[in-house]
Amino acid sequence: MKILIPNLGSTSVKYRLFDFTGGDGTLLTRGGLERVSDHAEAIEQVLGELREGGWVGSEEDLAAVGFKTIMAEGRTGCLELTPEVVDSMEACNNIAPAHNPPYIRGIRLFAEKMPSVPLVGLFETAFFQWAPEASTRYAVPQSWHDAGVRRWGFHGASHKFIAERSAELLDREDVAERARNLYVDAGLPVDRSPLRVVSCHLGGSSSISGILNGAAVGNSMGLSPQSGLPHNNRVGDLDSMAVLHMMRRDGLSVDDVETALCNEGGLKGLSGGHNDIRDIASEADSGNAQAKLALDVFVHSARHWLGAYFAQLNGLDALVFTAGIGENRASIRAAICAELDQLGIRLDAEKNEAARAEEAIISADDSPVRVMVIPTNEELVVAREVKRYLEHRRN
Ligand code: ADP
Repeated sequence: MKILIPNLGSTSVKYRLFDFTGGDGTLLTRGGLERVSDHAEAIEQVLGELREGGWVGSEEDLAAVGFKTIMAEGRTGCLELTPEVVDSMEACNNIAPAHNPPYIRGIRLFAEKMPSVPLVGLFETAFFQWAPEASTRYAVPQSWHDAGVRRWGFHGASHKFIAERSAELLDREDVAERARNLYVDAGLPVDRSPLRVVSCHLGGSSSISGILNGAAVGNSMGLSPQSGLPHNNRVGDLDSMAVLHMMRRDGLSVDDVETALCNEGGLKGLSGGHNDIRDIASEADSGNAQAKLALDVFVHSARHWLGAYFAQLNGLDALVFTAGIGENRASIRAAICAELDQLGIRLDAEKNEAARAEEAIISADDSPVRVMVIPTNEELVVAREVKRYLEHRRN
């Protein structure tokens, strides 16, 4: 059973192809294109690559195409991407303008090119379905809440992978089993003491989740993937009065505000134009004070959310770093963990320096909280849920 998982960015099309014949998901091949301007052409090229490589001869070779879909109005979970579901995604385009439109475009293109292949989406909001209502509710008038203004949480596939894998690495098979089966049976009990994990997905966009016994208790992103930590070019948390103040003071239009907060904010806004942490770090190293401040704001925000979930979870068993920055930037990990010994977090400086894009424990042997680097595998989480969806549909 082969399942193709395309990852559709605003300027990239990447993919991984998994095979589930007799197993839990083997990666057959992966690839992709950067600097894409025409998604239709890029998807055609990807399908061509898969044909030439002998991976996918015809539509019949694919059990499904699975998408890491972002959000849809009034729905979440793992769903077949019927035209109605895609319409409900489109209703959220104003909320996630950088994320939803490329997926909608891609899904429609696949539906045209492969009409007989089921298209299934695992929504990024799905992992947060069991978070307590107090953590998902904004203090807005009821009519706003009824219009869907609430915290959803994002990066669900990544945080779910961390929930599963951290439990496996901590020898908590009971919790790993619960995390793996969350979407079919969230009621699975755990055998031993609660397992409390904070997952830091730090990348082009960043979010932090508290995870109790394999299920999220919350996420730093809210209504949209815009809030929480500063992102590469998106603002992160901001007082809502700032929007009104700038509109009234400078006569900004809605589009001006969107550009400022969604394209010119975040690390780019702070650093004076750089949105890649590698460039910001080298600028900071050569004495650029704005770049140094950008790093400091990022670290401060990460510690803020780490502290929030430390309190919600009544302590911590493991702190996990993942995604581009979390997996690769030892200096950011060290800054986030600095002077947290009173909370039981003590890094081993050498292990931290050595850990790069591979699983590693980077805390000191006597640290009460295990600090880990775990490369995320969002596509595998999506592929497994899609497979499960297909099996249930057949039964
Ligand atoms: P996205 O959220 O777009 O998937 P990534 O998870 O790849 O992005 O994270 C992008 C960020 O991670 C960038 O700021 C980049 O500098 C950083 N990053 C990615 N790979 C590396 C690497 N090998 N070394 C250092 N930093 C990296």
